[in-house]
This record gives sequence, C-alpha cells and structure tokens, in this order.
Amino acid sequence: MKFSGLQKTSLIDFPNKVAAVLFTPGCNLRCPYCYNWRIVVDPKPPFLNEETALQILEERKRYVDAVVVTGGEPTIHKELPKFLKRLKEKGFAVKLDTNGFNPKVLEESLPYVDYVALDVKTSLGKYGLLGAAGTAELTHTMEVLKAGKVEYEFRTTVVPKLVEEEDIAQIGEAVKGAENYALQQFIPGDTLNEEYKSLKPYPPETLEKMAETIRKYVNNLVTRF
Ligand code: SF4
Repeated sequence: MKFSGLQKTSLIDFPNKVAAVLFTPGCNLRCPYCYNWRIVVDPKPPFLNEETALQILEERKRYVDAVVVTGGEPTIHKELPKFLKRLKEKGFAVKLDTNGFNPKVLEESLPYVDYVALDVKTSLGKYGLLGAAGTAELTHTMEVLKAGKVEYEFRTTVVPKLVEEEDIAQIGEAVKGAENYALQQFIPGDTLNEEYKSLKPYPPETLEKMAETIRKYVNNLVTRF
C-alpha cells in the first residue's frame, strides 16, 4: 500500500484511544463537500510506502496505541486487508473509515479491525449527487456491519443541500437497527466544490429536530454539534 499522508497523533479519530491516522489516495466518490479532495481527485507524490509507514508507527508506539486508516477511500485498495493484518500483528488497535462502496474488501478487512466508521452521506436516492451510480454496495455494507462482527458506527455529516429535513427519515429507514449512529455538524472549509466553502451550516435547533427524527431508528444516537 502507499499513503498520501500520516498524522502522527489524533485524540478525536478513534473513540477512547490515542491514534495515528493514515490517509490513502483516491476515492470512488466525488462529494462536493470533501475536505481531502487534493488526495482524492489527483493524488500526487510524494507517497509514503507501507514499510516506511509501519516503521514510523513502530517508533510512535510509546505515544499511540491505535491506527486509523482513512482517505480518500481505503477500500478501493485491494491490498488493504493485508496491510491491516500487519498493523494488528504489530499490536495496534485498528479503525477503518469507509464510504461503504466496496463490501468485499471491507469483509476481508474485518478480521483485522476493531472499529469501523461508515459514512451514510444522505438518503440513498441522493447518492447520484456524490457521483455514485447506485447504492447496492452501500446497502450490503450496512448489512455486513449490522451483523455485529466488529464494533461500528454509521455517521451522517449534515451538509445543507445534500441532507435536508426530509432526507432524515429516509436515512433512518436505511440505517434501521444500527447499534451506533452519529449525526455530525458540517463545518465549511476547503471543500472540493467552491459553493460549499461558504455554505451556512444548519442551526442547532434544526439538528436537534433531525436527531429526534432519527433516534427511533437506531440503538445509540450520538450528536456531534
Ligand atoms: S467519500 Fe470521503 S474522501 Fe471520498 S469524496 Fe466523499 S468525502 Fe471525499
């Protein structure tokens, strides 16, 4: 595997753990609000190779006990499960962030991960806005994770235009029965689409209302706003 970057320490990316974060290049989607678009649209060298990444992580072991693999989209890389296995063999707790569009690679990865965060970006009917041709793979991924082989969360970043109040019940139907679900505020920044840079996030009252709608579909609701 090769990586577009390594963040040496994060206190927020892995629940209850101090983690390093590895970023994989490329992605199958084109979300207009993507913050990591530079490594998505046209990933450029220098890349970090697998051996160097593992060496750096080994040296950081005194400070971090976990590794988050994020992107881009990690599961577009067929060699991902093998790499995750190496991380586990080195004694790290492993979290995988995914958009859910490659259930095969995800299933092959499950023996080597402790936690999966799956983005459920909007209602299934709107995924065309993110560049997806369909959502069958995503639905399959949700079923795989709901089976509960590893701890997981589904999460939705509430991006105005992409996630409107009427989408929330449809998202609820799609994630129905999920163990952990997080609703998170959108923070405008350096996004792929210019328009989203200045998009005004929803006020807390709207997010509270959305949270109430979705609460009845999931077991544990976490709000991040
Ligand atoms: S799935 Fe994630 S990395 Fe890919 S375009 Fe969307 S936000 Fe960016």
